[in-house]
Amino acid sequence: MPSFVIQEKCDGCKGGEKTACMYICPNDLMVLDPNAMKAYNQEPDQCWECFSCVKICPTQAIEVRGYSDFVPLGSSIMPMMGTEDVMWTCKFRNGTVKRFKFPIRTTAEGSANAYLDLQGKDIDSELLSTEEADGMVMAGPTELA
Ligand code: SF4
Ligand code: SF4
Repeated sequence: MPSFVIQEKCDGCKGGEKTACMYICPNDLMVLDPNAMKAYNQEPDQCWECFSCVKICPTQAIEVRGYSDFVPLGSSIMPMMGTEDVMWTCKFRNGTVKRFKFPIRTTAEGSANAYLDLQGKDIDSELLSTEEADGMVMAGPTELA
């Protein structure tokens, strides 16, 4: 089930230019209603249910209802991001609550360098970053006559 915003919990990221959920959604689905200062998923059919918006929302205002085998009716699952780990709170149908904490980083926050492995490589090259010049080159599109 796609993401949805619990309106009572959303504070519009306190009027920031771009809300956290707008920033993180890989499919640009989240938008902010500037009058109500509430975000909403503008195209639920396109939601990948990736949980990114759920994890980043500072007020825990977004939920993704999982499939019934993962999150059966009456239960819920909610992540809370920390700087070092993410805590998942799982509520079972009988009311039992369990929490699981997982580390989310191996480098200090803000220190990750996405280009580190590309040092010395020609980033303007048409080859994939993992592809060597003498390796297999994928065929390009064929021009139709
Ligand atoms: S990240 Fe959360 S609080 Fe911020 S606009 Fe989106 S739903 Fe609202
Ligand atoms: S679950 Fe993923 S794809 Fe769906 S709205 Fe949130 S960030 Fe976008």
